[in-house]
Amino acid sequence: MNRKITDPFLPPERLLLGPGPSPVAPEVLAAMAHPTIGHLDPAFIGLMDELKAMLQTMFNTKNEATFTVAGPGSVGMDACILNMIEPGDKILIARNGVFGMRMSEVASRGGATVVPLDFEWGTPVDPAAVDAALAKDKDIKFLAFVHAETSTGVLSDAQALGAVAKKHNVFSIMDCVTSVGGVPVEMDAWSIDVLYTGTQKCLSCPPGLSPVSFNQRAIDHIKARKTKVLSWFLDVTQVMAYWGGEGARAYHHTAPINALYGLHEALRRVLVEGLDAAFARHRKAHQYLVAGLQKRGMEMLVAESYRLPQLNAVKIPAGADDAKVRRSLLLDHGIEIGAGLGPLAGKVWRIGLMGEGARVESVDRLLAALDKVLVKEPA
Ligand SMILES: *Cc1c(COP(=O)(O)O)cnc(C)c1O
Repeated sequence: MNRKITDPFLPPERLLLGPGPSPVAPEVLAAMAHPTIGHLDPAFIGLMDELKAMLQTMFNTKNEATFTVAGPGSVGMDACILNMIEPGDKILIARNGVFGMRMSEVASRGGATVVPLDFEWGTPVDPAAVDAALAKDKDIKFLAFVHAETSTGVLSDAQALGAVAKKHNVFSIMDCVTSVGGVPVEMDAWSIDVLYTGTQKCLSCPPGLSPVSFNQRAIDHIKARKTKVLSWFLDVTQVMAYWGGEGARAYHHTAPINALYGLHEALRRVLVEGLDAAFARHRKAHQYLVAGLQKRGMEMLVAESYRLPQLNAVKIPAGADDAKVRRSLLLDHGIEIGAGLGPLAGKVWRIGLMGEGARVESVDRLLAALDKVLVKEPA
């Protein structure tokens, strides 16, 4: 190939059925191509207000402090944890996959004392074990957990975990990066104090934004901090002055304007479809995929009762070459699926049916391609 760096970059066509990013609708891409306007333009401020209302609906919350942090889901994780903890604070982190481990890393870098509570990868967080851990150590101030573990395809019972945190009067911090838009998230009804999500999973928006929400109890806690938040950029009280409705908006940073056009269109699409219809579509595609895989003799990693519809971990059939199969799916068939992580590397494939990808037609394309590839790369 004699490409020059001055040639325009044109991405290949892909069907994104991995752990994210998910397929983006042409309408969202078109929205992002609208002309850039100023971030303090009244028209843009109107867009920010609408985004807040849409995110409140997505999270089922009335929290005023509901807004978008500029940066991918991991920045939302940083924002939520670093605003809540102060050096020396004890935080219980329930870990059943990669993202619980990442939460520990964020909290310990922030100077917190991490109390880890580990569960086997492929199983959910057990609320009774969390209850016991909180009963044993009264110095713990926070519980952090992942609602939908994308590394394994497991859904934990956020309602029960929120209730346990409330019972022990600790703040709950929930990662719902993969859950929002794919399965119900009821922030207020479940007594979740703080949460963050991402845009490139079930919201089918390009990566780079992290919607977050803090309830009043969490905001009061942050305002009463003795030490400054470690990160200037992520200090919620300052970001709120930019996003919040209290008086004039103060310049804090320049919002990623065109990315927010895209998020507005992506959220609008989900809300026009209806959340319940979107959840049902994810479930239908998931059931269709599981039936198709089982018909081919393949086994799911996770027990049916806590399987995520939007992230399907399937055991790699004996003798199939993990990397070769994924490579052929991508390069010969234009379909991306994910590899296993950590202890599951080489053991499972992760098939995402997220957002626009959660359709029976996507599953048909994948199964047809898999049939061809597995014949070529047999046991
Ligand atoms: C993808 C993901 C993240 C991290 O999001 P990035 O956008 O990759 O930074 C965090 N938690 C969960 C559960 C995820 O699936």
